[in-house]
Amino acid sequence: MYKILDGKKIAAELRVKIRADVSEFKKNTGKDIGLAVVLVGDNQASQIYVRNKIKACEEVGIKSFAYYLPEETLQKDLNALLIELAGDDNVNGILVQLPLPQHLDSDEALKLIPESKDVDGFSANSIGNLCLGTESLVACTPNGVMKILEYENINLSGKNAVVVGRSNIVGKPMAMLLLNANATVTVCHSRTRNLKEHCLNADIIVAAVGKAKLITVDMIKDGAVVIDVGMNKDEHGKLCGDVDFENVKEKCSYITPVPGGVGPMTITMLMYNTYISALRSAN
Ligand code: NAP
Repeated sequence: MYKILDGKKIAAELRVKIRADVSEFKKNTGKDIGLAVVLVGDNQASQIYVRNKIKACEEVGIKSFAYYLPEETLQKDLNALLIELAGDDNVNGILVQLPLPQHLDSDEALKLIPESKDVDGFSANSIGNLCLGTESLVACTPNGVMKILEYENINLSGKNAVVVGRSNIVGKPMAMLLLNANATVTVCHSRTRNLKEHCLNADIIVAAVGKAKLITVDMIKDGAVVIDVGMNKDEHGKLCGDVDFENVKEKCSYITPVPGGVGPMTITMLMYNTYISALRSAN
């Protein structure tokens, strides 16, 4: 019998804890915790993400500073804002909502966010620290997956983990976190031969591809833990993951649904990272 990993519930519990920690921080230091969110242009999905991040800040008691820059913003003006935020003591975390408009270089922008304020965990330094196993702010979605596994006391040591997808923001940091937790990790991608064979060997599968129902029941070992990061639309326009949930679930020990699995954890981990960043700077 499988168990649903309820990311919505875990995220809600975590937010209550973060809210209490933030309140304690303010009491002890007399300072607010601040998150700066920078949005360039009018990408509708990005606007929704930014709105949700600001709402989450309100929920946990973090002060948000939103910067809405026009589509035609020049790189030098974006850079100047990031340099200013980097030096602002009221700002503990800086987030540049991606993707940026095509004429802007996101690598150049991300380089201007100091590691201590890199609450998205996307910078080269943050990723480097993750590889070295040094303390750093970890990318929110993979860190959210780890929190779900921790919450259910799912032991990773010595387990075969397969990560499907190798993006810099999900697949690669996910693989590194699993490796740091002593799993034996295989990373699959679009050029992988025999994806099914790799998956059949997995005690834990994390799917982060962006293709509806790519992971089917014939790819699942009995009792596997299946984590679905994907966010896609199915043939009826309904939100769905990368895993064929209805057919796969019966073979799993644990599985995340979409929606209500990994998704709610991502913004919660952003709040967590902002709190951790403030705590480290206060210490
Ligand atoms: P991405 O940058 O497009 O990366 C997709 C990865 O999947 C690539 O590494 C690609 O391989 C691999 N891939 C493509 N087709 C494949 C196939 N047939 N078999 C195996 N691997 C294949 O996407 P992303 O940003 O990592 O996001 C992945 C999914 O997670 C998306 O659905 C996204 O919406 C979702 N997401 C959800 C959250 C959340 O909060 N829940 C957060 C971030 C992303 P190559 O490298 O070879 O091209």
